[in-house]
Amino acid sequence: MTTILVVNSGSSSVKYQLVDAASGARFASGLVERIGEPLGRIQHQAGEARSERELAVPDHAAGFAAMLDAFAQAGTPISELGVAAVGHRVVQGGSEFVEPTLITDEVAERILALGELAPLHNPAHYQAIVAARAAFPEVPHVAVFDTAFHQSIPAEAYTYAIDTTVAAEHGIRRYGFHGISHLVVSRRAAAFLGKPVSSLKQIVLHLGNGASACAIDGGISVDTSMGLTPLEGLVMGTRSGDLDPGLMLHLLRVGYSTDQLDQLLNKRSGLMGLAGSNDFRDLQRAAEEGDAASQLAFGVYVHAIRRYLGAYLVELGGADTIVFTAGVGENSPALRAAVCAELEWFGVRIDPARNTAVGGGPRRISADHSRIEVLVVPTDEEAEIARQTWQLVSA
Ligand code: AMP
Repeated sequence: MTTILVVNSGSSSVKYQLVDAASGARFASGLVERIGEPLGRIQHQAGEARSERELAVPDHAAGFAAMLDAFAQAGTPISELGVAAVGHRVVQGGSEFVEPTLITDEVAERILALGELAPLHNPAHYQAIVAARAAFPEVPHVAVFDTAFHQSIPAEAYTYAIDTTVAAEHGIRRYGFHGISHLVVSRRAAAFLGKPVSSLKQIVLHLGNGASACAIDGGISVDTSMGLTPLEGLVMGTRSGDLDPGLMLHLLRVGYSTDQLDQLLNKRSGLMGLAGSNDFRDLQRAAEEGDAASQLAFGVYVHAIRRYLGAYLVELGGADTIVFTAGVGENSPALRAAVCAELEWFGVRIDPARNTAVGGGPRRISADHSRIEVLVVPTDEEAEIARQTWQLVSA
């Protein structure tokens, strides 16, 4: 029995999947969203059957209960589906959780305590973990950390140049996120190329609503663009990415509160702040129709990616592959073409027909004579969480 329930709770949502850890096959999946708002929503899919329902979901425990209800409504209570273990994605594992970890009461409390570093995420994970352990008391629960893959980053890359006493007191360093995605995508890219991951220098660009770049040397993360929090680095859907820290001091001095600053930088910045939408499709459409703000936002987004691309090419001493993944990376040929434009001198040459061809799985978009292989590789964090969960509980 290798059926794993994967629970991926965000600040106001719970995504879930029932996955076969051995094959990665998906039996059922769903999303509870708008948790904490007056009216939430659950979408559930089992095989071909889809359902959608609006209901109040005050917190993540209620979200988990809504998921259990959706399975029952779809015909088979989840208790009859042979769940062998539950894998929880946890955003912040600090410096202490470097591997998938069996969740005990103590581990759950540590995950909650790390909420100091990830206030939007870890408390939500904790609620979902408590609800899941109550619903599935007999099976092992495993936490898979988004920060774990980046624990290999060397000190010169993870250290911020601030007073070391302050940094030590508050756990301030670069942790990096999207680690589960960077790991699975880099392994799948290597498999696609038919080469051992240990032989490749890769730059993975995870471009979704959240976005990060990762420099991976021989399968090991050596640098990444997100930092202490998922706010640093690339321009994102609603997050600013890199800023002069003096900008925050300035806004605090002119009267912004901490919460207002948090809202501004996490919810009203990035593509949303520049062009009024965090949906990349809207942005592209508006830019093509001549909207100047959307054109600028597209340019700022591309500029940030190219800065990191340049930095990581130097850090890695060149690269064998550049890999695009997540919603924007997998689906926007225009973005990929803009990121790779005029890099022929560095050995990057996109094949326009391959770039625009519609395809589902991993694929090459570089020309045959491109020195650096440019790939599109779909991410699958849930399959990876299921795999790691199963690996731990079956050991
Ligand atoms: P994710 O967080 O990985 O689900 O990615 C979400 C982002 O991917 C949103 O900004 C979407 O607009 C974007 N996206 C999804 N499909 C497409 C598409 N066909 N073209 C451009 N962007 C897309």
